This record gives sequence, C-alpha cells and structure tokens, in this order.
Amino acid sequence: MDFDTPYVMTIDGRDATGQGMIDIVNPATGQPFAKAPRADAADLDAAVAAARKALPGWRALPIEERRKALVGISGAIAARAEEFGRLFTQEQGRPLAMAIGEIKHAAYWIKATSKLDLPVDVTEDSDTRRIEVHHEPVGVVAAIVPWNFPFLLAIWKIAPALLAGNTLVVKPSPFTPLCSLKLGELMREFLPAGVLNVISGGDELGPLMTAHPGFNKISFTGSTATGKKVMESAARDLKRVTLELGGNDAAIILPDVDVDAVAEQIFFGAFYNSAQVCIATKRLYIHEDVYDALRDRLHAIARRVTVGDGSQQGSDYGPLQNAPQYRRVLGLLEEAKAQGLTLLQGRDVPEQGYFVPLTLVDNPPEESRVVQEEAFGPILPLLKYSDLDEVIQRANDSEYGLAGAVWSGDIDKAVAVARRMETGTVWINQNLQNTPFTPFAGVKQSGIGVENGLPGLLEFTQPKTLFIPKVSQAVE
Ligand code: NAD
Repeated sequence: MDFDTPYVMTIDGRDATGQGMIDIVNPATGQPFAKAPRADAADLDAAVAAARKALPGWRALPIEERRKALVGISGAIAARAEEFGRLFTQEQGRPLAMAIGEIKHAAYWIKATSKLDLPVDVTEDSDTRRIEVHHEPVGVVAAIVPWNFPFLLAIWKIAPALLAGNTLVVKPSPFTPLCSLKLGELMREFLPAGVLNVISGGDELGPLMTAHPGFNKISFTGSTATGKKVMESAARDLKRVTLELGGNDAAIILPDVDVDAVAEQIFFGAFYNSAQVCIATKRLYIHEDVYDALRDRLHAIARRVTVGDGSQQGSDYGPLQNAPQYRRVLGLLEEAKAQGLTLLQGRDVPEQGYFVPLTLVDNPPEESRVVQEEAFGPILPLLKYSDLDEVIQRANDSEYGLAGAVWSGDIDKAVAVARRMETGTVWINQNLQNTPFTPFAGVKQSGIGVENGLPGLLEFTQPKTLFIPKVSQAVE
C-alpha cells in the first residue's frame, strides 16, 4: 500500500476503480484536492458477491487465526500512523496531532478488540442433557460510517465483525473516504480476498446498500434522521441493524465544583473536533452559584485557543468538515443573533474554508434551537439552573439519550445524579471516554443496539442453541 498512488476501492482483494470519480474537498481551503472512485450498483453487487464467497472460509477459521490477522492489521496501521494522519487532516480537517491520535487509537482498538472471546453459554447441564448457546457469525455486514470520526468508527465495526467470523463491505462518508480506501488496501495483506471490501461513492450508495438483499446486517453510524431511513429499508428483508445515532448531550455542573480545576476539560469535551462529536457536551447546565465564574472562564479559553488549518502548527481546532454542515451551523448562529441571544465568541477565524468561531451562548431560553437541536458545530449553550430536580428533568427532556456528564466535588452526589440521567453513558468529572471493553449504546432516538465490549461483539453474531442429550439414543 502506498499513499502516493491513486485512490482505489478494494473488491475481492483487488483494485476497483468505479464508474467515474467524486471530488474530495479539503475543509480548511474549501477546495478539492483528491478524487475518490464512485461505485455504482454493479460495483456494490461485486463487493457483496466477494464478501459472500469469502464468508464460508473465513467463518470456518479458528478464532485464533482471525485474532492474528487483527493483530497484524493493528501493527501495520500503527506503523503508518503519521501518513494516515496527514491524509486524515486533509480530508477531515482535524489538527494533525489529533488526527494521528485517532489513527493510533484505532490501532490500539483493533488489538484490544482481538482479545475478546466468543463465549459458549451453558444454560443447562443436567443428568439428561446439556444446552449450549453458541454465537455464530451473522454473515455479510454492511458498515456505513460518518465523516466526523471516519477512521475509528470504521474500526469499531470492522474489528468485531471480523473477529466474530463475518465478512464486510465498508462504505465511508462521501466527504471522507480517503483513509478508508487506503485502509482497505492495507488490509489486503492480512485478509483473504473478499473478507473486507471498501467501496466509496455519492449519496446514492448508502440507500443501495441498505436495500441490497445480499447483506445480513447493517451496522450504521450517523444522524438519527438517516438512521430511521436505514431501519425502514432494512425492515424489508429483516436485516439485523445496529444504529449509533445523534445526541444532544447534557452536562450538569453542581454548585460545589472547583471552576478553575474543571473548566479546561469541560471546554475540550464540548469543542473537541470543532464540536463534531456525537458524545460532545452540547448543553451545559451550570448551577447559578458558579454560573458567572464558569462562563467567564470558558470564554477566556475560547479567546485563547486558535481555530485554523489543521495542517499548520498552532491550530488547536480545525474547520467544520463539509459545506452543508458549515452552512447549517452558520444558519444556527444567524438565527441566535436575530433572536437577540448573547453570543460570547472566541478568536477570529480564517475567511477561507469552513471555519466558525468557537461560540458560547449566554443562558438562552430552553426552547431556542441552539438548545433543542444537535448543533454538531462549535455553539455551546450555557444554561443557568437553581434546582437539581428541575435541571435533571431539563437534561432528560430530549428525544436523544446518547451520553451525559455530571461535575461535582462530591463523587457520591454526582453518581446519584448520573443514575437519574436517561442516557447510555454518563461520565463523572470527565467526558468523551470509551473503551474497547465497555458497551456503548444510545437510548431513545440515539440508537438501537450496542457497539464495543462483549455486547458489541455479540451484535455481529446470531445465537445458535444446541440441545445435546447425555444418552446416545433419542429419548421421548
Ligand atoms: P449521516 O447520517 O448524514 O451519514 C452517515 C453515513 O450514512 C454516511 O456514510 C452517508 O453517506 C450514509 N447515508 C446517507 N444517507 C443514507 C441513506 N439514506 N441510507 C444509508 N446510508 C446513508 O451522518 P453524518 O452527517 O455523516 O454524521 C453526523 C451524525 O452522526 C451526527 O448526528 C452524529 O451525532 C452522528 N454520530 C453518531 C455516533 C454514535 O456513535 N452514536 C458517532 C458519530 C456520529
């Protein structure tokens, strides 16, 4: 695999060039800098056929062999983390150090996932029989990935799916396909042909995949609106689905926090990746006793940090990733201004490219759009509260339920609040944490199913129950 060669898809272990190309734009300049293949329905058919052909051989391998392949892939990615990172910054926008960080983290994640085991559950072991539940691969998996964490979130699907004995067709976002295409090339060395196929294309490719009868499962990460379409399409032939969707995560700041000690971390948890993080803090509820102090501290951080081209030294935060998202976030800002909301902004940003100043909104009404919608951009509403029961109710009053956080000087008190939050994950005095051994799931409209940990691995399997008699003859 070479980073200097044209971008190609991987179908059946070989290069595939698609039908025409799509332009890939660098969000720091707003200009195209590379081209990726555009797959059509025939390319998709070829990828699914290759995955189906490779399935019997791959699932029949001892799990140790599949583990070995994953460890090899992990090492190869880690060895090329800098090259992947540079490409990542060009296509996604994130500052280089953090881009390399995502690649290294993904390499770690694959290796860690390879240590998981598929259990055989014994539900009865009596004098007459033994009942064993095995976990068989679900089959051919479609992995559909968004643009905000294009590498790590692909790995969250690829590693467990492969370990469990499935084969895949991976589709990155049309905005960020390049690292995934190179990943497909890199993996050829470690996997039999057809086990992992990577195809890129335009908006039409996702719906073609979810409707394709050759898939047994769709593993999807993206917006709630698209997730609903995926589920509807998958329902036609009852494909299994895992949907990791949007969030509008609340963090609750209790009055006993040490503002100076926590401000930097709270800021980072809201604005990392220019706030294009599903589990970013998107509503910050601050007790009135510490509201002014924390607001001023956060505003000082916003004025200190630099928003700029991620490939340039000194850029702490990058651009928004794509033009539609940029226009959407600018629209939210314009609306907030028109409503007379108080915006506390950070330093000026470059004029060219999809840059937006880091923005705090000073205590807007709860019903304003900047509070109610997932902005997925650097606009953080700060919301004042005085009563704990009332703020928990406000935090939970959302169609989403992905993650949340509680910040307090008293851990027990914070845990008691965390237990009342209606989200799949709650952090105490921290944020943005995940591990390969910990299930990650959204409640309400933040998703269906689980990624990561043993429950995430089992989502790529189908239970198969064996009733085994203890005597050799059939019994009545
Ligand atoms: P998106 O839903 O627009 O796109 C996600 C993927 O789905 C892309 O690959 C896209 O090409 C594809 N797609 C688009 N329409 C499709 C269709 N009709 N059928 C099948 N596939 C289709 O999401 P996005 O804008 O790329 O990502 C941002 C969203 O993702 C945010 O809402 C964010 O919260 C969410 N997200 C969730 C998680 C999580 O783990 N819960 C993680 C990251 C991002």
